Amino acid sequence: MHIEIAPLRRLVSAIFSAAGCDRAESDRIALYLSNANLAGHDSHGVIRVPRYVEYLRAGKVKAGQGLTVVTENDVLAVLDGNFGFGQTVGPLAVRHGIDKAAANGVALIALRHAGHLGRIGEWAEMAAAEGLVSVHFVNVAGSLLVAPFGGTSRRLSTAPFAAGVPVAGKPPMILDFATSVVAEGKALVAMNGGKPLPEGSLIGPDGKPTTDPVALYGVVAPGTSPNPRNGPGAIRAMGEHKGSGLALLCELLAGALTGSGCAGPGERSVANGMLSLYMSPAFFGSGDAFAGEVAGYIDFFKSANPVDPDGEVLIPGEPERQRRTARERDGVPLTDDAWQAILGAARGVGLGQEETDALLADAVK
Ligand code: NAD
Repeated sequence: MHIEIAPLRRLVSAIFSAAGCDRAESDRIALYLSNANLAGHDSHGVIRVPRYVEYLRAGKVKAGQGLTVVTENDVLAVLDGNFGFGQTVGPLAVRHGIDKAAANGVALIALRHAGHLGRIGEWAEMAAAEGLVSVHFVNVAGSLLVAPFGGTSRRLSTAPFAAGVPVAGKPPMILDFATSVVAEGKALVAMNGGKPLPEGSLIGPDGKPTTDPVALYGVVAPGTSPNPRNGPGAIRAMGEHKGSGLALLCELLAGALTGSGCAGPGERSVANGMLSLYMSPAFFGSGDAFAGEVAGYIDFFKSANPVDPDGEVLIPGEPERQRRTARERDGVPLTDDAWQAILGAARGVGLGQEETDALLADAVK
């Protein structure tokens, strides 16, 4: 089924308002989750609603939090997200970095203890919209999901990396990926009956690659949410030894340097850490030359002969923009299981059937 974006946002916002968030925060959660669906990253979209509601109930994420400044100077800030929603403390931290880089040319922002920051490319897009280059190293403290190269035990989070470069007169280059073969949410989508996992995504305790999400979640009892802590296997680090090394770097910079904590060992509160670098090309004495070089080089890059004669070489960020155009027109595709889980979350926070129907009015295509 396809759900139109506006009523989907209305429903998600109403769920978080009923769960105890104020209206502005509820709207932000709905906006950023549904933006991930528009970009085609369903793993980081509204499929997360039931889990976010559970986290809020359990006190693992807190409504109405702001940032606390741990330390700060003109070009550096260490900010504590106080386990607030990533959709609230994330954009506040990015705003902090944008303002510092706009004033001083460069900024390094260490964000610790943020709730789930969702699709990290969103934050690179926010910086690129203001003409800034940005690089983001992210980890998830308390989330051991990924086996390092050469291992079968979980030692890493899915630790995403993202970067954005503005392109004069055109949309920015936005590179944004988990350093695991797949993001955990992609396994969640597969577990919920959506797109199957690509070959070699997971590894069993026997060291054999598998695509069966049960390796990650174990067998899920009916009526319960899949819990990625329960499976006997792990997600594999991407790119063999190179991707595993980048994942380790994300853990060290986003986990240790920010003070958010690495993925393990031992029990840790689940939180995103994010170390972000912002650069203003205007301060590099080559603002126009930079813009010209980037635009020219991207044209050159894209002019490579395509492998598929009917295909096209894309820059990172282009697939998301193409999907956004299609999904703004056609609505967001959701599996029946994912949709039922969202409706279940709505009922769970006390939204009545009539209220839900009114919010959705003709949304389902
Ligand atoms: P992915 O494997 O779909 O890769 C996405 C990246 O590859 C994008 O930059 C995209 O533009 C680029 N890309 C895709 N196809 C391309 C093509 N044909 N040509 C050129 N570039 C192409 O992403 P993923 O690893 O599944 O990650 C999904 C999302 O999960 C990301 O948004 C990431 O930030 C998010 N994530 C978040 C967390 C968290 O804790 N908040 C953890 C893990 C992942």
